[in-house]
Amino acid sequence: MNNKLNSKSLIVCLSILLAYNSCKQLGLEKDEADNSTVAAAAILATRTTTATSTSTSTSTSTNTAPSALAYSGSPYSFTVNTAISAQTPTVTGTITSCTVSPALPTGLTLATATCSITGTPTVAQAATSYTVTATNSFGSTTATISITIAAVGASCTANTSTGTTVLASTATLDATTGCPTNITTCMDSALPAWIKDNFKCAIGYVSGSNYVFKSQNIPNTKSYYFTAYTNNVANTTYPLYEALPSGNTKAGSNTVISQNLTYTIPSTPTRGTGTDSTQGGLVSIGITLNGLAIFNNAAAPPDVLASEATTFDNFQGHPQNSGVYHHHAAVPKVCESAANTSNTGACANAALIGVALDGYAIYGQKCDNGTATTTDDFTPTLDSLHGHTAVTTHFSTATYHYHYANDTTATIYTLMGSFFYGNKGSVSN
Ligand SMILES: [Zn+2]
Ligand SMILES: [Zn+2]
Repeated sequence: MNNKLNSKSLIVCLSILLAYNSCKQLGLEKDEADNSTVAAAAILATRTTTATSTSTSTSTSTNTAPSALAYSGSPYSFTVNTAISAQTPTVTGTITSCTVSPALPTGLTLATATCSITGTPTVAQAATSYTVTATNSFGSTTATISITIAAVGASCTANTSTGTTVLASTATLDATTGCPTNITTCMDSALPAWIKDNFKCAIGYVSGSNYVFKSQNIPNTKSYYFTAYTNNVANTTYPLYEALPSGNTKAGSNTVISQNLTYTIPSTPTRGTGTDSTQGGLVSIGITLNGLAIFNNAAAPPDVLASEATTFDNFQGHPQNSGVYHHHAAVPKVCESAANTSNTGACANAALIGVALDGYAIYGQKCDNGTATTTDDFTPTLDSLHGHTAVTTHFSTATYHYHYANDTTATIYTLMGSFFYGNKGSVSN
């Protein structure tokens, strides 16, 4: 925009009561990222000062410049590829436009009407200062903020906290992270893309020849099992409580309880004998993309899993008697649309679901054929361990992986069969 005006224009501009609109029409509106910022600012300052004094004598007292612009969250620490919650400033008076200098980091946007900052940063940076200017026709006010953007998982180590312990009675969901409030997601930058770009609500990092995952194991969905019992009656007032699916019954007096699960999973899986049982008393045999325990295809004797499945919540999980929430079967939260808040989807697609303790990935019922398109997905022919060797979008070299599939022991579809294909890592709690 051209800021060069002749003196006559400027005088006309400053003399008119509705100075701002006239100046705007003449091209005096401050432009973003303009090389003539200094000159434009000088003209703007002259204009706004004069305009204020002119209008004060002829208008009501509400005609004042905005003031006291403030962002309570600054200094900000954001993370690459993590959407920020909207940062809306407080201000005295009315704002008609907002600008920022220098331009906000890539991926972040300033709302020109409210000065609210939103978006998802995509590039890491050290602390950088930005000046936000809020303007109306009578003047402007500024706020200086600081923004630091951390690389994804830059600081995920054995010391990284899984977050504040989450209690069933007060647990809520964080709409920004997609995880329970106060649960940390930190996937180290050294992890392969198929892990760091997909897993959340957990800590993940590389340790020697293993990947380590740490999880509190709190579902990022509503569940019947966010409850407590009094005389065997469930408390229905907890924020994330919801009723069981129609026809289902509760699993004893089990409830969701925060855990301290640590998985040590070989980063280069190796084929085992195929006779190492998944039913060997392990606390978990794998971890889902949303940081939850995977259990095997067995139920507590004498049940078969098919009968225990009647205690699943709306997301096909349930806790065992020490509060470890887990999935034996479909994980609709990670297979289906993220927009779904309650569903019983059957993972009848090629979605990545998690990783087993032996390091091999677990997918939905279909194989993606190594392409992102879904039109060529197919239902694979599997071995007795629910697996086969093929390319996927995550592995361009044909690699063994498991599928969610019909299980003859469970007599329902399960994530894993009775045995590991590979040499398993370890898990503790
Ligand atoms: Zn179970
Ligand atoms: Zn496959």
